[in-house]
Amino acid sequence: MPDSTPSLEKPVRVRFAPSPTGYLHVGGARTALFNWLFARHTGGTLILRIEDTDFERSSEEMVEGILVGMRWLGLNWDEGPFYQSKRLDLYKATAQKIIDAGHAYACFCTKEELEQRRAQATAAGRPPMYDRRCRKIAKEEAERRVAAGESAAIRFAVPEGGSTSFDDAVFGKVEFANAEIEDFVLLRSDGIPTYHLSVVADDIDMRLTHIIRGADHISNTPKQVLQYRALGAKLPVFAHVPLILGPDKTRLSKRHGATSVISYKQLGIVPEAFRNFLSLLGWTPGNVKDADGKDREIFSSDELVKLFSLGGISKSNAVFDNDKLAWFNTEYIRAYPAELLMPLIEEEWKQAEFTPTRSETEIHQAIELLKPRARNLKDFAIAFRAYFSDEFEIDPAAAAKFLTSDVPVLLKELSARYAAVTEFTEASTEAVLRGFAEEKGLKAGVLINGARVVLTGQGVAPSLFAVMIALGQQRVVARLAAKLA
Ligand code: GLU
Repeated sequence: MPDSTPSLEKPVRVRFAPSPTGYLHVGGARTALFNWLFARHTGGTLILRIEDTDFERSSEEMVEGILVGMRWLGLNWDEGPFYQSKRLDLYKATAQKIIDAGHAYACFCTKEELEQRRAQATAAGRPPMYDRRCRKIAKEEAERRVAAGESAAIRFAVPEGGSTSFDDAVFGKVEFANAEIEDFVLLRSDGIPTYHLSVVADDIDMRLTHIIRGADHISNTPKQVLQYRALGAKLPVFAHVPLILGPDKTRLSKRHGATSVISYKQLGIVPEAFRNFLSLLGWTPGNVKDADGKDREIFSSDELVKLFSLGGISKSNAVFDNDKLAWFNTEYIRAYPAELLMPLIEEEWKQAEFTPTRSETEIHQAIELLKPRARNLKDFAIAFRAYFSDEFEIDPAAAAKFLTSDVPVLLKELSARYAAVTEFTEASTEAVLRGFAEEKGLKAGVLINGARVVLTGQGVAPSLFAVMIALGQQRVVARLAAKLA
């Protein structure tokens, strides 16, 4: 697979540049992850830049949400966060440089005039592009009007013929006819830069070597390339990553369910599982097989860093599959030792305001027993409470199904048997139950199902006798008798 990394003549510098107008969503997190993987793979630098020049829609709360999401995913950055709102002087100076180089001009058209002309053009079936009238104003006259205090925006003077192209590391050569690019605004009349200007000014100032971002920015790129040329700056490598679609193949949105990264934390997803899942949305590590010959999908963070390359990014859109995410999550829960799951589970306990009362060793033992059955981390705080504390509820549906007729009476009697034994192992507890069932002329299953409900609160659980050992003799004796106490 081609890899664009060998062409690196300078240390890699990449950035994640979210706009804090919403929470960190899945697409943004994937962009952040790819930048992080590329920086770590190349030993480069990841910069975090907050693009907050849309003052009305940006908020400190959203910035905090983005940082929380990145930290949850383990995506650390090396420089920043830098805030564009604090760098307005750089944008003004950059716009001035483009004017001085003869590639930008002052535009005195008012908002109302522009709107009116746009409406007229649309009505006449013409594209509603700026008609470039202020481009004809002589530079000296424009300067005089600006000096006299007239309000002006700065527009880029797009070449009238020809085309603008760039080589994208993912999409190859991308070309746009200049005739289709309007003389876009760089700086608004209030001195606030547009995205087009601030992104280029910062990408140059921060000496970025690679721009890895969503394919929705491809159409913005020619406007950026034009500015690099006007400023005499070297182009970075652009790598646009494919869009993420929902299962119905439309662009992933709220209609498809949770889209903010933090909502996946709230659903009990292991962060590394989410990171592994995200890494494969639009990227493949090439020919890496499992022992059974299938494409490998589970990769540790170190492996992802080692394998990542821009050449592995695919052109075709990725599909966000919730079932697949659930699969990654259960695989991670199963594979993690109790010590690694512990902090994640403790977080769930905190959220659920649940306090375990058992010893650390007992808790670890219970986690090991339960993890093959966990669907997510939340199970440890809700469905599995009985393993960590004596305060738990019995699922009414399970009770109605299995604690019928004289089962509670029989369980109380069984409790007495367990109280009397000196040996308490999986084999011995099973022998006691089966012997007792035989004595009573019952199927052992009736007692097993009933005991499971009173011991765990649930209708399904790991092997009952393993559960008994995890709970310990005293607890088993008490719980079996509790229904009739
Ligand atoms: N702030 C832009 C966004 O959130 C990203 C800009 C860029 O990557 O060039 O979509």
